[in-house]
Amino acid sequence: MTDLADLRSDFPILDQKMNGHPLIYLDSASTSQKPNAVIDAIDDFYRTTNANVHRGAYGLSNDATDRYEAARARVAAFVNADAGEVAFNRGTTSALNQVAYGWGLYNLKPGDRVLLTLMEHHANIVPWQLVSRHTGAELVYVPHTGDYTLDLDAFTELLDDRVKVVGVTAMSNVLGTINPVRQIADAAHQIGALVVVDAAQAVPHVAVDVRAMDADFLAFSAHKMLGPTGIGVLYGKAELLETMEPAEGGGEMISDVQLDSSTWAAVPHKFEAGTPPIAEAIGLAAAVEYLERIGMDAVRNHEVEITGYALDRLGAIDALTIYGPTDTSNRGGAVSFTLADIHPHDLATILDQRGIAVRAGHHCARPLARSLNAPATARASFYIYNVRSDVDALVDGLQEAREIFGVA
Ligand code: PMP
Repeated sequence: MTDLADLRSDFPILDQKMNGHPLIYLDSASTSQKPNAVIDAIDDFYRTTNANVHRGAYGLSNDATDRYEAARARVAAFVNADAGEVAFNRGTTSALNQVAYGWGLYNLKPGDRVLLTLMEHHANIVPWQLVSRHTGAELVYVPHTGDYTLDLDAFTELLDDRVKVVGVTAMSNVLGTINPVRQIADAAHQIGALVVVDAAQAVPHVAVDVRAMDADFLAFSAHKMLGPTGIGVLYGKAELLETMEPAEGGGEMISDVQLDSSTWAAVPHKFEAGTPPIAEAIGLAAAVEYLERIGMDAVRNHEVEITGYALDRLGAIDALTIYGPTDTSNRGGAVSFTLADIHPHDLATILDQRGIAVRAGHHCARPLARSLNAPATARASFYIYNVRSDVDALVDGLQEAREIFGVA
């Protein structure tokens, strides 16, 4: 295994006990833990540079602006975008709402279709539902196959000239499935549809290149990639951002304001209404720097190793069902499962008694949960600070659950 074990000491939160046991954090698909480098960068910003940005009447504000814009450049480069193609916002959810309300609202009409996948997180479903109430566009879903990958034949069949936008998650937060975004984008572009990529799970775990993917829009959240909460990223192709309307209005995003109309600031600022998440951007840039230092290939290799180990060990437990691909080459580190008929919340509670944090529920993907006939699952998800002994502890905890519930 790529030896990232030494990194654990970079994450102060992991050095504590929970319910009398060492904390074992297996919920990074929900939110990741933060290394000292990120915590310190935010702390340093507030101690030395804090001021509002883009109001440059004095030195401190200029310094804050420089650091904020340098963070943008760093984050953009991380996904092979230009700084002008990256707008900061509150997270994946707000980035996807920006696309639905800024592009969808103005470009969709009755008879049009938004083609999503059944694997989407609610963040890439509900905004389109809200906008379709105004536009009359219809939502259509690509199903998945029995091996938990997208049904590409169904996708091809559904992709007709009514489809104006395709929304796809690059990596499922429930199944772990990595979707063939480039292939989907090529097909969508052939019929003139745009591709909106939910990369909330992908950017933290695999090297993402917006150009190689040919994504038109792509969204991700800092808090899942070692950065702080409260900040996310919308990437858009420059020509789309130029023509797209802002979904939020207010200060900072205007060029001029008259009594009954306004003109917008240049891209990407027209998408950043109000005081932006400044310290959070500094923290996100520190997270990017930290990940780059490790190297995204090493991050991915580690994840493949530990996920493979987890799939082997969990797969050996009788009556345990894994929902997701078992081949690590096309999946990330989110492993959802059920154990006999034990409710996932009961599993999570028993594991919590051993200091092990897993998530239980529908994971904000109810249409997917319904399609799996599994209204709730337990989910263990891994990141750079997880080690094999975390998986061993999980397996021991599940064996105890079997005994408690008398699973034969
Ligand atoms: N999409 C996916 C695939 C996710 O896993 C999540 C977070 N669970 C989101 C979107 C929403 O991200 P956020 O809550 O940071 O807006």
